[in-house]
Amino acid sequence: MKVADFQRLVEQVGLLTGEQREALAQVLAGQGEAGQTTALIEARFADKATCPHCQGEGQKWGFAAGLRRYRCRACKKSFNALTKTPLAFLKKRDKLAAYGQAMVDGLSLRKAAKRVGIDLTTAFDWRHRLLKMPAKTKPAKLQGVVEADETYFLESKKGRRKLDRKARKRGGTASKRGLSDEQIPVMVTRDRSGATLTEVLPEVTTASITKVLDTVLAKDAALVSDGEKAYRAFANATDRLHIALIATAGERTWGTYHIQNVNSYTSALKGWMARFKGVATEYLPSYLGWHRKLEREGEAFTRMSCVAAALA
Ligand SMILES: [Zn+2]
Repeated sequence: MKVADFQRLVEQVGLLTGEQREALAQVLAGQGEAGQTTALIEARFADKATCPHCQGEGQKWGFAAGLRRYRCRACKKSFNALTKTPLAFLKKRDKLAAYGQAMVDGLSLRKAAKRVGIDLTTAFDWRHRLLKMPAKTKPAKLQGVVEADETYFLESKKGRRKLDRKARKRGGTASKRGLSDEQIPVMVTRDRSGATLTEVLPEVTTASITKVLDTVLAKDAALVSDGEKAYRAFANATDRLHIALIATAGERTWGTYHIQNVNSYTSALKGWMARFKGVATEYLPSYLGWHRKLEREGEAFTRMSCVAAALA
């Protein structure tokens, strides 16, 4: 660690609450990554332990399964920092951060399971726990020049399939593109600050586009699309500026208006998704959210951020 970083760290130690100090002491006592993960989990209740059942206040009530227990003063139920989060009742917690790293690295289930030393079923379970990050990875507003385009993902109905040999039969290509019901449309919208929204649409219609964009798109934004009629209809109906680029006429850009940022986001998304070899349609929004977070935070999105995001 650089000297300046260390100095900052020392300064920050002064800001710790009693609980955080205790958690940090555990990390320093050499419990390594398991200790860090536990500290991160316990830090959730560093200020106040809020009962997940009734929002009452919890009081310390011993320890269980390596985590501090609390008992609600109001409803008398006990809980810990994981109760009712996607990480509740998770076993082998000491390996969770390493698994988070495997997800950041975009490993397949099999590779992740092997690297971390867990079985495939656990890897599958953990992936979906970590993917349940809240919808707050969506931007609050898209402003200025906002590019929009649709992309398609092959529909997969495998759902919570068993991880058996049949699982190999997946992927493949749809016979038709675009309007085929074998393809799930995802609308990608991105403004020039990099704020990005990826949203699964039931179909590409004015109604579905309006439902997604009307609240998030700034009223004075310039919406740039490839000329899909539904965008124009949406813009007209909601009194917004729409700039249609007609690709077939060779009009790929018009002044500063183009959809190249959306196109490059989409191709990165496709490349990233390919490694998962077919994602069940019901999980597609989770994967899209995960990718938004990865792309937005870049190197700041670490193994520990995965764990923290699941607890937020
Ligand atoms: Zn309660």
